[in-house]
Amino acid sequence: MAMVNESGNRGRLSSLVLARSTVDRSSLIRADNAKLDELWNSAHILVMINELFVSSETHLRFFSAADLCGEGERYFLGIHQESGQSYFVWNSRDTSLQDALKVTEDDLKGLRQIGAVLSDLHAGLAAHALALLHWHATHPRCSRCGEQTIIELGGAMRVCPADQSQHHPRTDPAIIVLVKDEDDRLLLGRQSIWPEKRFSNFAGFVEPGESFEQCVVREVAEECGVLVHSVHYLGSQPWPFPASIMIAFESVTSDPSTALADGEEITEIRWYSREEMKKAVEDGELSLPPRISVSRRMIEHWYGPNAQTELSRDGE
Ligand SMILES: [Zn+2]
Repeated sequence: MAMVNESGNRGRLSSLVLARSTVDRSSLIRADNAKLDELWNSAHILVMINELFVSSETHLRFFSAADLCGEGERYFLGIHQESGQSYFVWNSRDTSLQDALKVTEDDLKGLRQIGAVLSDLHAGLAAHALALLHWHATHPRCSRCGEQTIIELGGAMRVCPADQSQHHPRTDPAIIVLVKDEDDRLLLGRQSIWPEKRFSNFAGFVEPGESFEQCVVREVAEECGVLVHSVHYLGSQPWPFPASIMIAFESVTSDPSTALADGEEITEIRWYSREEMKKAVEDGELSLPPRISVSRRMIEHWYGPNAQTELSRDGE
């Protein structure tokens, strides 16, 4: 198994849960309001009420423009190139809409809850929609003069009517890093705010003026005290909770004995061989991160092809 893992570890993570978009964002259309109006009339429209999607157990529900009522904002998500179908999201806080659509509380679901079971199309739309919604909700005013800004480009920009400044959706880069020693053991850490028994990889926001690779080395040193080298890119996925993109790396430390939790963000650390991890999961001593997260995929990638069956006690 070790040989399989060694070759596997050189690869990238594929099909990350929230990085599966199949819709073309059609950015050239965004500036054409007449075209957006035309598309809206035949669009498949996701409905979000108080940051939750109208959804069944396994897929998002689409509505037509004629179904909608009350106050809300529309954001353009793009066009599927093969079918020609256009997609929007309707962002509403109007409870009359919920009644009009006959939507119950059970029909409203968060992306963390359903992301892992959605199709590529739905997962991509949902990640885009939620990120846009969070940005609009928290950036209603101009950061220069305080004036209320207005939506442009189908929701891809806000503009200040007083000084014409343009404001674009934010995405905050955060690295997440898998730390191994030279015996291919994995180091995981625990934050006190996490669910019981949960251990995961190390992560942190990229600071101004810092490269991803520098951030990896700094965050690992801060959180668990080891110096890492051989930093290697694994993949990335949007993490719209509320506005991050997780950029995943693996790295190696030559001095595992220096590992020590910082005692603030990270309260405990543990080294795992594959056998130790398997046993810890079986014994209920280790709860891996949820399937929607890149950290779960990183751990499974390190573990190897049997990860899905051998680490699956955790139902998430
Ligand atoms: Zn302004």
